[in-house]
Amino acid sequence: MNLKQNYFRPEVTEMAGYVPGEQPKIPNILKLNTNENPYSPSPLVAAMLRNYDIDLLRRYPDPRADELCAAAARLHGFTREEVIAGNGSDDILTMIFRCFTDKERGMSYLYPSYSLYQSLADIQGCPVTRIPLNPETFELPDNLLEQARGSNLLIITRPNAPTGKSYPHEVMNEICARFDGIVVFDEAYVDFSMDSCLDLAKEFDNVLVTRTLSKSYSLAGLRLGFAYGSRKLIGGMYKVKDSYNVDRLAQLIGATAIADQAWMRNNVKMIRATRTRMIEELRQMDFKVVDSETNFVLASPPDGDAKKFFDALRGEAIIVRYFPEPPTTQYIRITVGTDEEIDRLLDFTANYLGVKRKQ
Ligand code: PMP
Repeated sequence: MNLKQNYFRPEVTEMAGYVPGEQPKIPNILKLNTNENPYSPSPLVAAMLRNYDIDLLRRYPDPRADELCAAAARLHGFTREEVIAGNGSDDILTMIFRCFTDKERGMSYLYPSYSLYQSLADIQGCPVTRIPLNPETFELPDNLLEQARGSNLLIITRPNAPTGKSYPHEVMNEICARFDGIVVFDEAYVDFSMDSCLDLAKEFDNVLVTRTLSKSYSLAGLRLGFAYGSRKLIGGMYKVKDSYNVDRLAQLIGATAIADQAWMRNNVKMIRATRTRMIEELRQMDFKVVDSETNFVLASPPDGDAKKFFDALRGEAIIVRYFPEPPTTQYIRITVGTDEEIDRLLDFTANYLGVKRKQ
């Protein structure tokens, strides 16, 4: 139906909107496209759900998710007032954009990184500075601070998606000290890496760190994320959040999953081991592979024709992610699955290239 007139704000009319990774329904699918965890969430979650009294669902949840936030705070040595929970870290990012951006207050992010930032900026109608990473190495540019100058918000995805790379901690420290605005470290993948910037959120009052249970805790379907930062920043974020943004089940499941650190750590250990093996084998088959500190790997086939390889994988019901814009035109991004799953991928890849797997 055609609208009689365009009722939309110009910003909404003009924006493209975020395109999430596909969730295709294909038989025998090997789904390695949206960085989900191949292992189950903690068995404590299953046990808790078996005994859950569904009558509780008649009541609204705690709007501040106090118990959950207290658990998330304790885990990293923060106080309750220094943590806020969201419906996934996407929701946390939405709050951040509502708080710190508008037509006058712009934001900066590195490119390539998480494409949702652009959509959230479009909704706000805020000026955006897209700071290119080195197109060969995906390292930070030396003049990052110069390029970000004037922005009220700078988002650094660390480790980065879709490259999988992290950046030196001392450089992050310097950015926090010198940037004249809010620095957000999006740490969606940090549990797969060695080093976090949570210490900087404790030290600097212009720094926020975002976290999610979607990846390392195997709970992408639950939708739960957090921000850590100073009382003042977190307190402001509470003003702009949706009223009951974390439902009752998510609050309970989240607290249960966080309590089982050993389970999460063990899954991360397995994923890291598979990641190492997968990178080695892809390199043996002459792929160009970016070192990864995440649960995915950015890899370019020997002929550089990533689209052709992507389509061939798809023909085998192996779904990975392809970002056609430079500088990732020659790469695909592959989520690290179980050993068996990655063997299926590597078997097909060897076949595709007409080589034998060396093992
Ligand atoms: N940040 C980054 C860098 C991501 O890749 C994702 C996952 N798409 C998110 C945040 C959002 O994760 P979630 O909303 O599931 O917590």
